[in-house]
Amino acid sequence: MKKYRKFYVIFLSGMLLCLGGCGRKADRMGDSAVHSMDTAMGTMVQQTIYLQDTQEKADQADGEGQSQSGAVTDDVMEVIRRLEEELLSWRLETSEVYAINESAGDPEGILVSPQMKQLLTRCREVSEASSGAFDITMGRVVRLWNLDAWAGADNQLDYRLPGEEEILSCLSGTGYEKLDLQENRLYLPSDLQLDLGAVGKGIALDEIQETFSQKQEVAGAIVSVGGSVLTYGTKPDGTSWRVAVTDPQNTAAGIGYLELSGQWCVSTSGTYERFVEVNGVRYHHIIDPSTGHPADSGLDSVTVLTKDGFLSDALSTACLVLGKEEGGRLAQAFQAEAIFVDHEGNVTMTEGMGQYFHLSKVEK
Ligand code: AMP
Ligand code: MG
Repeated sequence: MKKYRKFYVIFLSGMLLCLGGCGRKADRMGDSAVHSMDTAMGTMVQQTIYLQDTQEKADQADGEGQSQSGAVTDDVMEVIRRLEEELLSWRLETSEVYAINESAGDPEGILVSPQMKQLLTRCREVSEASSGAFDITMGRVVRLWNLDAWAGADNQLDYRLPGEEEILSCLSGTGYEKLDLQENRLYLPSDLQLDLGAVGKGIALDEIQETFSQKQEVAGAIVSVGGSVLTYGTKPDGTSWRVAVTDPQNTAAGIGYLELSGQWCVSTSGTYERFVEVNGVRYHHIIDPSTGHPADSGLDSVTVLTKDGFLSDALSTACLVLGKEEGGRLAQAFQAEAIFVDHEGNVTMTEGMGQYFHLSKVEK
């Protein structure tokens, strides 16, 4: 693994997708790209879409406000929302995960869709490879901490830390090996609840990539769904995609950027993303399944680079729990590259990451 000390000056201009405000907004820019910002899956979605040259000219000729590229950004939002509403949300009664969680304890089990079956199988593979550091059966423990709801709330002083007994009680029901999937039927123990929050954004990237590949008019695109970024195709000027890696100690800036050509997925898991501070201690949203407490591996963030969105998202969560040594081995087992930032701001990376990552210095 390569090691760097943290630099104090930070690259900013490459952070095209990592900063900005919320709310639905799509703008055609002078560089012939369409930029859009919106929210879905409880996070910000930012897109920059470049159309093929001929399509761009046709759009300009008919001068319509809702251009072809605007339709593409709408389709992307539709893909993400459908995933959330129909498949992944534990909150929405319309989703398959909700129905699965409702079936807990049912001796008849529940029929799962082919997509869910494939997803559960892939999750199990990462759980096994990470010795359980990645575990989608942590739903009850995650709900108990409830950090997603409290992070960013104004009244954090009212947050009540869960007691050790409650934690252990929820934890005793968890374990990926307890998921009993037979053919297309899943049998969920009564005290087990699924939470697919660690892979939702990555799955979204895979589906967005699939959508782009069916649209010949899309020449290139860069889309971020929360901490996960998809690069696709090429820019009209032929320059590389740049994806900033957030500085955990100063989240409005970056420690550097990845320079990428063509299709890639980049996911970051960070202790700074969702947390509550109690008596000066940060309690963040990624839970170590071996303790039931927020992961304490010495890391503040992990960024994973692969071609596959599901994997980049699953591995970044797992690596944050495992720490840099074991995390590095896990990433490499899946032919992924990773960057680790520890509490002191030290930056470490897997050997192959060096060809993509630029540690850069620019003040905010
Ligand atoms: P991410 O931001 O992709 O690292 O995912 C974090 C989310 O995954 C949390 O908000 C939880 O919903 C869920 N989660 C927390 N800890 C784990 C874990 N050890 N394995 C799998 N999912 C987890
Ligand atoms: Mg993840």
